[in-house]
Amino acid sequence: MRTIFYFLVFVCASAAQAKRNTPWAKITKPSSGPSEAIGGYSNGCIRGAVALPETGPGYTSIRRFRNRYYGHTRLVTYLKKLGTKLKKQEIDEILIGDLSQPQGGLMGYGHRSHQLGLDADIWFSRPKKDKRAKDNNFNSLVDRKREKIVSKRWTDKVIGLLRTAASDDNVSRIFVHWVIKNQLCRDVKNDRTWLRKIRAWWGHDRHFHVRLTCPKESKDCKNQGAIKSGDGCGAEKWFSAARVKARKTRAAERRKKRREKIARLMKTKKNAKRIKVPKKKKRKKTYHPRCQELLDESKSKTKK
Ligand SMILES: [Zn+2]
Repeated sequence: MRTIFYFLVFVCASAAQAKRNTPWAKITKPSSGPSEAIGGYSNGCIRGAVALPETGPGYTSIRRFRNRYYGHTRLVTYLKKLGTKLKKQEIDEILIGDLSQPQGGLMGYGHRSHQLGLDADIWFSRPKKDKRAKDNNFNSLVDRKREKIVSKRWTDKVIGLLRTAASDDNVSRIFVHWVIKNQLCRDVKNDRTWLRKIRAWWGHDRHFHVRLTCPKESKDCKNQGAIKSGDGCGAEKWFSAARVKARKTRAAERRKKRREKIARLMKTKKNAKRIKVPKKKKRKKTYHPRCQELLDESKSKTKK
């Protein structure tokens, strides 16, 4: 019984961090030439990516073992500049997580986006060096059970960090947990223009996600749709109590279904080894023609 339990825990845990079989994750080096983002944020690639140096004024790039510290020159310049600006404002050094793989594309696990070399994750807290591999070791700004901000961690420096990160013309959007966006809507006075770029999303309570717009020279890069005018406070669907309630109900239903499924499996199969987890149907992945080209190029290079 116990083995079955652990087996199921393992299955559920690995489903959450499912491994994907993607050719992009096998590429270890960027292609040469000037930086060019091709395709969309969630299905694209990058030519001529550059590496973000491991450290610089005001920042440290972490989790280098994942080999996801590559980006468009525009992104790398943006991050370096951000570090310098924060240092001048005496805001703590930031830890920068994943950018993109050497040639972008879909990652083997984690993010769906981050494919163009124009996305980067920045953490809100700074755990010690040996604690940075695990997400849970980073402080969350949100009490997710009560759906409230953790007030002792909600400081002027955090607001300053988000303001500085958003106030750059290259930034298209910044994704944060909806509780954080809601709190910003309440607390930011005077200049609120930058709030528009701060978008409420799921997760993103331990880190925020910066997305730059497509550089003009990247002709085949597909920007996300424009953001509605206004500061994105108030009328946004995320903040209505009815919506929050509906979301909670849906989540509870999903949890219940999963519990029932596990109970069914435990009843019908006595031997854990015989439990077959239903596999998702595989769909053939199609890439932007120029990304496919890039992929073929790097495959032929590794064969030589
Ligand atoms: Zn991200």
